[in-house]
Amino acid sequence: MASIFTKIIKGEIPCYKVAEDDNYFAFLDINPNAKGHTLCVPKKEVDKLFDLDEETYNGLMAFSRKVALAIEKAVPCNRVGVAVVGLEVPHVHVHLIPLNVMKDMTFQHKISMAEEEFETVARKIREQL
Ligand code: 5GP
Repeated sequence: MASIFTKIIKGEIPCYKVAEDDNYFAFLDINPNAKGHTLCVPKKEVDKLFDLDEETYNGLMAFSRKVALAIEKAVPCNRVGVAVVGLEVPHVHVHLIPLNVMKDMTFQHKISMAEEEFETVARKIREQL
């Protein structure tokens, strides 16, 4: 069965899209640690990061770097943190999280955002790409 992220990539489930190329897709995390929390996903559906073939792995990192640099310009923050967890969704994704304090990285401190805020921050990141 297709993962929830494959359904998002195919447009079957809505998302706040940030970036896309032939092989990768980026969108806002629906339950963010911080405003601008973004997920970068390979279109190829693989569960675990280090099971990716080397080309896809390196491509995902290059794509994530581009998105992270855009987040840094678009979202006021000290820096952008990176995490790969995957305990909830078995489709590789890189978390890019605008950080100001350590708890932004804990995944136990979540923020709530209105729909318009998601739309605005996604647009601001897209404009920096
Ligand atoms: P992990 O698998 O790395 O533990 O966490 C999965 C992440 O995906 C979580 O931060 C969660 O909020 C996010 N997530 C799960 N389902 C959806 C969804 O349907 N849409 C979006 N945008 N994010 C999701």
